[in-house]
Amino acid sequence: MSKTPAYAAPSAKSPLGPSTIERREPRASDVLIEILFCGICHSDIHQVRDEWGRGIFPMVPGHEIVGRVLQLGEAVTGFKLGELAGVGCFVDSCRACEWCRRGFEQFCEKGAAFTYNGTEMDRTTPTYGGYSRRIVVDERYVLRIAAGLDPAATAPLMCAGITTYSPLRQWECKQGDRVGVVGLGGLGHMAVKLASSMGAEVTVLSTSRRKEADARRMGAQSFEITTDDATLDRLAGRFDLLVDTVSTPHDYNRYLAMLRPYGTMVLLGMPPEPAPVAPASLILGNRRLAGSNIGGIAETQQMLDYCADKGIVSDVEVIRIQEVNGAYERMLRGDVRYRFVIDLATLE
Ligand code: NAP
Ligand code: ZN
Ligand code: ZN
Repeated sequence: MSKTPAYAAPSAKSPLGPSTIERREPRASDVLIEILFCGICHSDIHQVRDEWGRGIFPMVPGHEIVGRVLQLGEAVTGFKLGELAGVGCFVDSCRACEWCRRGFEQFCEKGAAFTYNGTEMDRTTPTYGGYSRRIVVDERYVLRIAAGLDPAATAPLMCAGITTYSPLRQWECKQGDRVGVVGLGGLGHMAVKLASSMGAEVTVLSTSRRKEADARRMGAQSFEITTDDATLDRLAGRFDLLVDTVSTPHDYNRYLAMLRPYGTMVLLGMPPEPAPVAPASLILGNRRLAGSNIGGIAETQQMLDYCADKGIVSDVEVIRIQEVNGAYERMLRGDVRYRFVIDLATLE
């Protein structure tokens, strides 16, 4: 074991602060990564404040990790010393069940080992995330990053990128589709870039007037303010696909009404409270309400290669680790442009 500086929350009620964690010595198939950058996902806030329940404390959040390979186990074949590598939302899974074999490790029947706020597959060793200097991960769960991609702007692809890419592929987003993206934050801005790169006609549905110019620069054709009921009425029956990335409760029925017949609204945002859905919202128009959870390793690699090919990265505001609690407050106000990324060199 080796000691690693980290930023941790001792309990759900306390802010994050400096701490030390243990990382295992690399085993034969492990990669030891020196973390350069880690994105701040809104899921970090939900979990560190224990909004989803069953939080494991102390908690070191962070699942949008990009770093440099510092050490390799003797059996590692896919990585070289000194190259960039990424780690996303999980670091292991059973590798044998139907879902692992099909490349959907996030649905592992034994439960994947999530990058933080979880345990290793031994079900006792707690996992700690990317708000730390180093991480040790089996190479099978490490992502390759094309040379030339900016490491800070690539980090958010590990969660925000794959979480938006996967449903766009599942619902076969293509040329001419009318796609609405609800909420222009970390996930939302990646959804805009990706859907527009696939040829969709993208509309951003936002509560923040000041984000319009950015939305258009990212590829959106239209921008609508959702705090105005008349706007929502005007958009009735408009979209083939709605991608909902909002982290707080809102009325899904209002958005379902904006779908064309046979259209789908896919929930990515995960407010902790249940929300009522009127049967008529779905029945009238054979509309569908769906959800989507991150993505498997193979699809994450596919997304990273796609983004390298298309030149897509995240719009980031790089911060020092000491600024993390303030960044959380800004995200809670919707004031994010469009992903905070922690520079881990600032963690002593
Ligand atoms: P984020 O960067 O904080 O963005 C959320 C956006 O929601 C805000 O920027 C804001 O956009 C919008 N919003 C609408 N009403 C709001 C309100 N009342 N207060 C604050 N914001 C409001 O969050 P994120 O990292 O993209 O994550 C979004 C959600 O997705 C979270 O619930 C997170 O846990 C979840 N998530 C799910 C998955 C998955 O696998 N499904 C993966 C990662 C994250 P506007 O200013 O444009 O309105
Ligand atoms: Zn995330
Ligand atoms: Zn499995």
